[in-house]
Amino acid sequence: MMDKIIKAINAAQAVLVASHVNPDGDAIGSLLSTGLALKSLGKKVFMYNESPIPAVYRFLDSVNEISRDLDEGFDCDTAVILDCGSMERVGQAIQRLKKIKTLINIDHHVTNDGFGDFHLVDYEACATSEIIYRLMKQLEVDIDPPMAAAIYTGILTDTGSFRFSNTNAAAFAICNEMVEMGVDPYMVARHVYGTYSLGRIKLLNLALDSIEIWCNGKLSIMTLTQEMMKKTGTQPEDADGLINYARRIEDVQVAAMIHELDGVASAGNDFKSKFHVSLRSDGAVDVSQIAAVFGGGGHESAAGFSIESSLADLKARLIELAGKIPEICGVN
Ligand code: 5GP
Ligand code: MN
Repeated sequence: MMDKIIKAINAAQAVLVASHVNPDGDAIGSLLSTGLALKSLGKKVFMYNESPIPAVYRFLDSVNEISRDLDEGFDCDTAVILDCGSMERVGQAIQRLKKIKTLINIDHHVTNDGFGDFHLVDYEACATSEIIYRLMKQLEVDIDPPMAAAIYTGILTDTGSFRFSNTNAAAFAICNEMVEMGVDPYMVARHVYGTYSLGRIKLLNLALDSIEIWCNGKLSIMTLTQEMMKKTGTQPEDADGLINYARRIEDVQVAAMIHELDGVASAGNDFKSKFHVSLRSDGAVDVSQIAAVFGGGGHESAAGFSIESSLADLKARLIELAGKIPEICGVN
């Protein structure tokens, strides 16, 4: 598959590079490194993401070149879609992106549905940025410090600083090479994990207080409502990582974070709202299967989905579903 992708990229002249909505470090790292690499090969490049770039990633070079406005990208002959298990993950631009002549899908999610004309999907890769690193070597790209910082950030964040189960030898080897090329781990860590706004700390307080424990202590549910976001003056990106508190609780095997995106659910449990649900597991349960039931996807130990529902229904469905998983409901 790599050969076909290399051919398609070599043939491309104007390339639109995109990654998923509400981008994380890997979505941004793979987007920037790919965009910069293709530019260095003399291609016309248009970098696109639907959502604003979280403040913690704005230290990366060329991040301001990522556009939220698709129009300029419209004379592209090729689109490279990164870190998206399905095309819907790019957001509202999906129909327009489908019209681009050649679609290349590069990803590392087990639930990747194989969209596009060419796919480079490797479930073993710790991050999409790892695949991009390999692709850059094949394309004989001269990796410069901005590309190196983007790749490093993608791998660092997607492995949870080399702690999650996707952490592999390549994560260390590639990051080591990027550091030898001049990436400063302390500088990156300070930006990515360094400071929290007061609002985020207050949100953390509300989020911790919202945690409920179900299924004999094996399922934890954290709920973030729009009301909490408004009260603390926080943005969706401030919810990133909060789920880890729910996952780390003793005995918990599956943690769910229900994040209200808009609507009026906080006015009462029965109102319908849009939610993003993040799921994490300690490794015993494959949460990508739970996400798939709701039309989402992800990895075995980290997955998610979006849904329109009332908060009460959503919680009830999650609890019911978790209760049917042998590891969770099993004899104890
Ligand atoms: P998070 O919970 O941090 O948003 O996402 C965890 C993992 O699940 C990530 O790898 C992410 O790409 C994937 N994921 C999150 N939401 C969705 C979704 O709605 N659809 C799919 N296919 N994957 C998702
Ligand atoms: Mn991602």
